[in-house]
Amino acid sequence: MTNITITRTTKPATRPSDDSLAFGTVFTDHMFVMDYVEGKGWHDARIEPYQPFTLDPAASVLHYAQAVFDGLKAFRGKDGTVRLFRPKKHAERLNISCERLCIPQLDPEMILQSFHKLIEVDEAWVPSKPGTALYLRPTVIASEAFLGVRPSKRYIYFLILSPVGPYYAEGMNPVKILATDQYVRAVPGGTGAAKTAANYAASLYGAEVAKKAGYTQVLWLDGVHHKYLDEVGTMNIMVQIGDEVVTPPLNGSILAGVTRDSILTLMREWGLRVSERQVSIDEVMEAAKDGTLKEMWGTGTAAVVSPVGELGYRDQKILINGGKTGALTQKLYDAIVGIQYGLTNDAHGWTERVVAK
Ligand SMILES: *Cc1c(COP(=O)(O)O)cnc(C)c1O
Repeated sequence: MTNITITRTTKPATRPSDDSLAFGTVFTDHMFVMDYVEGKGWHDARIEPYQPFTLDPAASVLHYAQAVFDGLKAFRGKDGTVRLFRPKKHAERLNISCERLCIPQLDPEMILQSFHKLIEVDEAWVPSKPGTALYLRPTVIASEAFLGVRPSKRYIYFLILSPVGPYYAEGMNPVKILATDQYVRAVPGGTGAAKTAANYAASLYGAEVAKKAGYTQVLWLDGVHHKYLDEVGTMNIMVQIGDEVVTPPLNGSILAGVTRDSILTLMREWGLRVSERQVSIDEVMEAAKDGTLKEMWGTGTAAVVSPVGELGYRDQKILINGGKTGALTQKLYDAIVGIQYGLTNDAHGWTERVVAK
């Protein structure tokens, strides 16, 4: 195991109350940082007080967006135990994203150690009110000062932590989404399967257009035919038509969500008919017309599941399950949350305890 130097803050911040927590606005006292230099590899793993970086204005991440990140959560159970949800899967995915962006991969054990050690140091920041969590944001950025276009020779890996409030403060709230055939999030052969900064910058404009039209999020269609469902906002999409639950396959342009994988696993165990296949917007609109469209939801770490109550496409607008959260959507939410907070048996070994030292 690599040695991790720990420098503790001399000015600990006042922690906000669990009731006041939102998403991504407050950060804990410390951060984990590690450097990479070509020829030397990843080195100097350390935990230090949370503080701004000094970056050269020519740092390649600022010009060409060579950056990847991931996002996962730790939850405090009723018994006080803190559990990470599927951290290995997230560490693996960070490395998959690194590979796509020509960033040198990290030792997966080192990533996991960074999760555990930093939470141990800032354990008091893990909120305990039901629905709250500690959000982890591991990130890698290219830090070499060089304006040529090629992979950087220097990188910084950092991990920051943010206590977050319940996604659904007033019960699960179905969202209105707009399928767009004008803007795309990703194309086959592109970077859609990597959690890389530029994907999100590229999605902002289409999302703003949808918001101006009164929708919460964009339902992204595929980048070639503008026809098949890809993702919704920054979540994976699932739709129940008749007795079949359909989600697009991992074909390179969608992100392999950990929540997606967890939910597919549960549904298959429950004996549901689950297909990973292409599903067109026309098939969804037809199903709405003939009454076979049952439920639709997005999946992701932030919300777990996000029910879709309304779908707009061109000049059509459909209501799904009367605009209300469906029974399956709710059941999936309850099952995942039960495991995350240690309320139900974790038969798959998805959670990892964080033991405060
Ligand atoms: C992070 C993300 C998801 C959801 O992944 P989870 O691992 O379930 O949080 C889905 N789509 C996109 C585009 C994402 O960035």
